[in-house]
Amino acid sequence: MERYDAIVLGAGVIGSAAAYALAARGQRTLLCDRHAFGHDRGSSHGGSRIFRHAYEDALHVRLAVAADAAWTALEAATGERLLQRTGGLDLGLVGGGELDPIEAALRAVGSDVERLSAAEVRARFPAFAPDDDVEALYQPSAGIVPASRAVAVLQRAAAAAGAELRDRERATEVRLTAQGVEVDTEHGRVGADRLVVATGAWLGEVLPELALPLHVERQQVLYVAVGADARAFAPERMPLFIARGTGRDRAGGIYGFPLYDAPNAIKISDHQGAPRIRLDERTDELHEDRAAATIAAARRLLPGLTGRLTRYQTCLYTKTPDERFVLDRHPEHPHVVVAGGGSGHAFKFGPLLGSIAADLALDGATEHGIEPFALARFGAA
Ligand SMILES: Cc1cc2nc3c(=O)[nH]c(=O)nc-3n(C[C@H](O)[C@H](O)[C@H](O)COP(=O)(O)OP(=O)(O)OC[C@H]3O[C@@H](n4cnc5c(N)ncnc54)[C@H](O)[C@@H]3O)c2cc1C
Repeated sequence: MERYDAIVLGAGVIGSAAAYALAARGQRTLLCDRHAFGHDRGSSHGGSRIFRHAYEDALHVRLAVAADAAWTALEAATGERLLQRTGGLDLGLVGGGELDPIEAALRAVGSDVERLSAAEVRARFPAFAPDDDVEALYQPSAGIVPASRAVAVLQRAAAAAGAELRDRERATEVRLTAQGVEVDTEHGRVGADRLVVATGAWLGEVLPELALPLHVERQQVLYVAVGADARAFAPERMPLFIARGTGRDRAGGIYGFPLYDAPNAIKISDHQGAPRIRLDERTDELHEDRAAATIAAARRLLPGLTGRLTRYQTCLYTKTPDERFVLDRHPEHPHVVVAGGGSGHAFKFGPLLGSIAADLALDGATEHGIEPFALARFGAA
């Protein structure tokens, strides 16, 4: 049986980052994924993800600031530019109260933020035409991470640090002992002193004994064509945005990007309301009604958008009940780390979550305040 210091199961953003962090700390590391590297069956694929500090609580703002440094360090280590800062807008109704906790949390941590009226948004960012009863927070630190490319960069960095990478190799059984772990994969048995389980929507399948209260939603992202004059949609002129139900019809919240990974279309989506699915029932069909509602809400905010769908992609959200991550040691096997429950917002923290997983696996603790991500909150410990 081949033996490693550490095995990481799952090569999404979290597992790839954990493998990189473990290998960089001198561990003989194996990273294993059930699908081909770069696949589109999980949660970490696609052209873009939002990076932002803006959260409603200081804990996540602090972690986002630490993640900012982690992305910068990854860029420096690999020579790859990953985080393109476009700035970010959070839009809400004047007096609606949604922006207040975000602004307070950003200010408490010392992250730059400006409050703008609808008129100021229209003047500074001509793609946007919010109604007068809308206001916004602008954060210059927000930007876009190229999701699939960033995961590939993490995997290359892991390999360069000495990790062994195997794809199309599903872990079929995990045996945890006092001494370490044994993992049966489709191609044989491997052993290690430490294990990081970062299998995204399949976390419960790999560690059923934890009875994690996760559910999976199937999300869809839409690429919608811009009009003939696309200048206002350029990433130098248009920040990414999260609109919290600000259309004239008060449509549900949507988010979107400037032109980035498609030359003539911007990516938009809704964050809430995706259907819960069972993984064995997944389909990749477009939900036409939701798409129409998302496009309609986006066109009210961005009148230069044509409304023509050029393509769409599906992706999985793996949600915990409180939408906070799971990042903890196994209650009975402290050499096993569980990292996931991304709940639709983990990508931005990827390199940080990977290095915290390595801290937990190697040191049993981390300097980052991650108590809210403990397994014990589910009654599992
Ligand atoms: C549409 C969409 C938009 C999003 N937008 C944002 C955003 O703008 N900003 C942001 O911060 N976050 C965003 N997120 C969330 C973020 O992308 C996810 O939280 C994050 O990618 C989760 O990563 P993961 O590594 O936990 O899971 P995954 O990427 O799913 O990785 C898990 C891996 O484990 C593998 N695996 C499963 N079972 C096994 C097994 N038995 N053996 C071996 N391997 C196994 C899978 O094949 C998979 O590759 C978005 C998510 C979606 C779906």
